Amino acid sequence: MDTVAASTLKDGPNEVVSVLLPVPLSGTYDYRVPDGMSLEVGQYVRVPLGSRSLSGVVWGPGSGNVPGNKIKPVIRLFALPPMTPELRHLIDWVARYYVTSPGTVLRMAMSVPSALDPPKPRKLYIDNGSRPKRLTPQRARVFSALADHSPSSAGDLARLASVGPEVVRGLARAGYLIVAAGTRTAGESAPNPDHSHPRLSRLQRVAAEELCSLIDEERFAVDLLDGVTGAGKTEVYFEAIAATLRAGRQVLVLLPEIALSAQWLGRFEARFGARPIAWHSELSAARRRDSWRAVSFGEAPLVVGARSALFLPFSKLGLIVVDEEHDASYKQEEGVCYNARDVAVMRGRITETPVVLVSATPSLESHHNANSGRYRRLSLPSRYGQAQLPDIEAVDMRRQPPVRGRWLSPVLDAAIRETVGAGNQVMLFLNRRGYAPLTLCRSCGFRLHCPNCTAWLVEHRLSKKMCCHHCGYVAQLLYNCPKCGSEASLVACGPGVERIAEEVGKVVPRARLRTMTSDTIGSVSNAELLVSDMLANRIDVLIGTQMITKGHHFPDLTLVGVVDADLGLAGGDLRASERSVQLLSQVAGRAGRAERPGRVLLQSYMIEHPVIRALVGGDRDRFFAAELRAREAAQMPPFTRLAALIVSSHTKQLAADVAADLARTAPKDGNVKVFGPAPAPVAQLRGRFRFRLLVKSPRRHNLQAVLLSWLASVSWPRAATVRVDMDPYSFM
Ligand code: ADP
Ligand code: ZN
Ligand code: ZN
Repeated sequence: MDTVAASTLKDGPNEVVSVLLPVPLSGTYDYRVPDGMSLEVGQYVRVPLGSRSLSGVVWGPGSGNVPGNKIKPVIRLFALPPMTPELRHLIDWVARYYVTSPGTVLRMAMSVPSALDPPKPRKLYIDNGSRPKRLTPQRARVFSALADHSPSSAGDLARLASVGPEVVRGLARAGYLIVAAGTRTAGESAPNPDHSHPRLSRLQRVAAEELCSLIDEERFAVDLLDGVTGAGKTEVYFEAIAATLRAGRQVLVLLPEIALSAQWLGRFEARFGARPIAWHSELSAARRRDSWRAVSFGEAPLVVGARSALFLPFSKLGLIVVDEEHDASYKQEEGVCYNARDVAVMRGRITETPVVLVSATPSLESHHNANSGRYRRLSLPSRYGQAQLPDIEAVDMRRQPPVRGRWLSPVLDAAIRETVGAGNQVMLFLNRRGYAPLTLCRSCGFRLHCPNCTAWLVEHRLSKKMCCHHCGYVAQLLYNCPKCGSEASLVACGPGVERIAEEVGKVVPRARLRTMTSDTIGSVSNAELLVSDMLANRIDVLIGTQMITKGHHFPDLTLVGVVDADLGLAGGDLRASERSVQLLSQVAGRAGRAERPGRVLLQSYMIEHPVIRALVGGDRDRFFAAELRAREAAQMPPFTRLAALIVSSHTKQLAADVAADLARTAPKDGNVKVFGPAPAPVAQLRGRFRFRLLVKSPRRHNLQAVLLSWLASVSWPRAATVRVDMDPYSFM
């Protein structure tokens, strides 16, 4: 928050401007403003770079470090609203905070280069009402296509009616089709804040009023909407959205897994009478371009998106909502390592916009910020309507073990039979894709592993493949041992989702089973289908990975079984306990969301573990308080700041050497502690060997500056890479 990019150029004509380009360079380049052009900071321009030309953004007046006769002229100026000072400020902040170059961040904000130019104008036709005397079947099809899709372009009409373009053109020439006024594509209708009014419960109303007061004040503040699963948090923040739309400002809603947002979109449409713009990786190029432009021109009242939507060019943003704010998928681990929740808070602060963080299990950081008064906590302690929180029980697997070769305890078996028998739905959760996580040879003990990673190959029986879940390596399913050659000696060890499905098939043979993992749900439309099947009770038992845990509301789902509640607790990760509580609370929260009560069974071999006890006892707050005390005692985040330096290379020795060099030159700063280097738990990943150093400082310390000067003091061969990961989450 210290420096702001200059937002105006010096008085008088600007002879030279500096331009930031969306490429990983350190700074800006100077360009001359050609005669007849006048430029403002923030405008999008095309400039030459070497032998090519690139589009970028005017970042300020010329830096003056290029001699006048060497400066090349700007090629052209795009007719777009300039990038706002706030977004430019955010880009600079992200680059500084996450120790990367502004150009790398700008690339995320200019992810749709084709959006800089207006789409080619298309003539849109409407029916003039009269009919030609000779109404061929082809012509008739054009009119009936137009009845459903008016206005339409000639190309679209030809496609919809399955006729050649000359048929449409003929009708237009003869005057039966006339050009609609205006040439813009008919966009979606705008969301209407008063389309329908839900009757909020008293608790919901109080929370909604608090949120709306924030909107009226038009200033930066963060509210943590902390309510149990099924509390009706969505309806509450919809009121804040309505207030923002009424005020004529734009809204950004971030969801962790936009591919699974069908239900959210449906609820939005029911409340606001229109579909919002959804921003995610599956958009077609044309949609992406239209959406980017609509946001830029201030014509998109609401965007719901994955983390990359944060860098869209909103011109009058009035509210940011981060739903499921604790979700680990907000942390980007590739390219720029940023946390979308934290950047959302910063975008709110820079644009003086309220931010609402929503969760049933807030992150420890947000808890801490709410406890210390930096955020305001709005609590919804009970479920909406008649729904009660589910009853959570631990199944002690030492006392109620499954039959040999099976994974479900008799207790869970019985509960599944009973639930399906009563016509209700079951959800089983296991965070492991495929059939079995490990395959070994019965004769020689050989274990099938990935050639590129220190990882076992996972059997996928349905697709008859062996896969590495780290790098995507795929091999054919084997029957004979590749080491000793023994026939049919390979055995699957441990369960994955597919294997649990097989077992459930034996428990309830007539039940309709479905699995839901990223393997089986490739696309948004597949996810939508599955959700609608679940809602229509066409599925009895849904078995899946963490994909099934997020946000869904299935009224007939009354039993949730967690196949291995201990899975997330393995490994000494700082956040293992926190993440387990969050994940398992989310899974548990799917049960009993309507009138029928829900039951949750957690299979565990360590039922006295604090995480299991917190879940069973429902004393989340006590668990978080203890976890915060432990973090404070250990001087760990959120009480301190951490950064990771990750050194990687295709040769192990080189990675080790560079890591050792870094350790040797570690900053002599009493406020900064350096730990490591340590080899990664998955020592080899995608063929690269990795080492990590952890750097810790007090929160108020400028750790980024320390890192920058440290990295500048060390040099390493190109074959090694050093990546900075601020506020690291996990390290595989
Ligand atoms: P959360 O996000 O807090 O887990 P949801 O917002 O999904 O909870 O709400 C749970 C269920 O209760 C949903 O089916 C929702 O439609 C319903 N619901 C919540 N508030 C209301 C309301 N005021 N009127 C009608 N239905 C509501
Ligand atoms: Zn063998
Ligand atoms: Zn691999």
